[in-house]
Amino acid sequence: VRSIAEILSERPCLSFEVFPPKPTDDEDMRGIFSTLSALASAEPDFVSVTYSPAGRNSDRALSIASFAADRGMTPLSHFTAVGYGREEAAAMLAALRERGLRNVLALRGDLPPGGEVRWKDFRHASDMIECIRGLDPGICVGAACYPEGHAECADPALDIERTRRKEELGASFFISQLFFDNDIFFSFVERARAAGLRSPIVAGVMPVLRAANARRIIELTGCSIPPALAALFERHGGDPVAMEDAGMDYAAAQIDGLRAAGVDGIHVYTMNRAAQALEILRRAGIAAR
Ligand code: FAD
Repeated sequence: VRSIAEILSERPCLSFEVFPPKPTDDEDMRGIFSTLSALASAEPDFVSVTYSPAGRNSDRALSIASFAADRGMTPLSHFTAVGYGREEAAAMLAALRERGLRNVLALRGDLPPGGEVRWKDFRHASDMIECIRGLDPGICVGAACYPEGHAECADPALDIERTRRKEELGASFFISQLFFDNDIFFSFVERARAAGLRSPIVAGVMPVLRAANARRIIELTGCSIPPALAALFERHGGDPVAMEDAGMDYAAAQIDGLRAAGVDGIHVYTMNRAAQALEILRRAGIAAR
């Protein structure tokens, strides 16, 4: 399994994010495995697998990453700091090593509703990055970045400074939070480069397929809605088929614009919907790689 930083240094990448489905939705994981097999047809440079804070789904996440590796894909295992410490980080690294997995996305993790967290050794993603680097200097570590600034940090320049700190401590690539206006991403990359961030910055693209889901995600991330997207909600919000079609067009146009600008990579948040992710790539003119 190759290092993602190395792959990113060679060419602009295309990658996907999937999440471990709940056991009640997909007990034997046949559903997610068939999703991954379908996504493999686009020959992604890597596939990332999300992680629940406190590792509620860690076994399933590991199985999914191993399945992807067995199918010739490069998995990227997310790992979250919330409620975790050195002990859990060491156990996670051992589990990855055992399976030949060599890429991790180090995140603080979403805070539980109500905000009650029992912090252990890590308070920020940067604390965990430093620890992972110390425990396993050979593993490739990525981290998150926020084109519109992280919701808990009112000062975008300070947020970039903290992102740069993650690089300083060992993150060698970044994946961005979703955004719906490419100019916001371009401006972020410009400011991050001016602040000295050197690692590849991959653009995270979230297709809007259902109006209700999109509103929830927008609320959670605090990302802004450009007028063109607001108009889509207005026009198609009550018609799921038309909304999905328009949402796929919107994501395809976003990807097209990002590629034309020569971004380091495009990471599609698939929400485990392979057919739609592949259709978006087809509409963006990159189905056949
Ligand atoms: P951090 O880098 O720790 O930043 C969090 C906040 O703390 C920011 O406001 C930052 O400015 C501030 N901060 C950072 N360092 C310091 C410091 N040293 N001192 C003071 N303040 C500081 N969540 C999950 O639970 N599971 C996932 O699998 C998952 N995958 C994700 C993938 C991507 C690409 C992205 C963008 C997000 C993902 N998330 C996931 C959500 C993520 O956990 C949240 O956005 C979380 O709120 C912040 O995570 P972070 O790693 O960016 O945190």
